[in-house]
Amino acid sequence: MKDTVVEWKVKMQFECFSVLFPRGTFAMQNILGMVTPKFFKKISESKVYEEELVVEKLEIIGHVQKRMGTKLRNLRNKLKSTKLTDGKKISGCDRLTDAQILLIQKYYGLAIRNTSKSVDEMSKSIWAIYFHKLSTDAKPQHGLCPMGSDSWCGFNKSLVSGEKYIHKHSLPEPVLLATKKVFRELADKKLLSKCIHGQSQNPNESFNNCVWKRIPKNTFVGINTLKIGVMDAVLCFNDGFYSRTEVLKNLGITPGKKHLRCIKKIDMLRIKEAEFMFQEARKEARTLKRQIKRVSELSETSKQD
Ligand SMILES: [Zn+2]
Repeated sequence: MKDTVVEWKVKMQFECFSVLFPRGTFAMQNILGMVTPKFFKKISESKVYEEELVVEKLEIIGHVQKRMGTKLRNLRNKLKSTKLTDGKKISGCDRLTDAQILLIQKYYGLAIRNTSKSVDEMSKSIWAIYFHKLSTDAKPQHGLCPMGSDSWCGFNKSLVSGEKYIHKHSLPEPVLLATKKVFRELADKKLLSKCIHGQSQNPNESFNNCVWKRIPKNTFVGINTLKIGVMDAVLCFNDGFYSRTEVLKNLGITPGKKHLRCIKKIDMLRIKEAEFMFQEARKEARTLKRQIKRVSELSETSKQD
């Protein structure tokens, strides 16, 4: 039964896609975000477009970044009662704690964002996190970490400043060996090539959100309403509400001064809201950073006690 519902959903989604993004009008070359693998396979196999236009599914970096945290937490749950090669469990003090998972997830996201022009560089930066965590005072392995005084790697930074560096946040080798599979999966070049666009989804202004605002999911609408709703969403999402005036002009309607003023105001508000949300996201990131620092300091103090 579940499969039949999934098949039906895929069929419906595909029919909508073929009607809304057909050959000759406008094409959707890249799909950024969450489409089911079955739906994506159907689009790729159907050849809705000319052969040279290959529809590609791109990944939202924020979603890929979260995968690191999820996979590490799942691994920790899976191995919670297993003893690693050093006779200790994967979790616990100075091992794969929540704070360490958050840190690795954060560095993984930065590795993708800061090197989003080359898949090889991205992969190298991700493995740099692995070897950075594996490094100890006796065996430093920072060859892949960025060099210079502005590097995030304290060891490489200390090479420039000449100060003594002590490895405080390393993870034991058996723990890292257990996580190697997760790193290998998430440093896969095929996956990284879908992140090369360097884009993330603004949750408040996502395209889906724009469509659902015009055509609520829970209300049945005919195909023409659906078409108009999606086209209006595309128009406003790409060029703002002001672009609607061009449509009106083509329909032989000249927009009045008051209409133009209002529509400009809506666009200004939209930009202000987006800027505000961006600042909020930055604030959230700063809070997360502080929390991570506090957790690391607490674990340091408990270690000294
Ligand atoms: Zn390093």
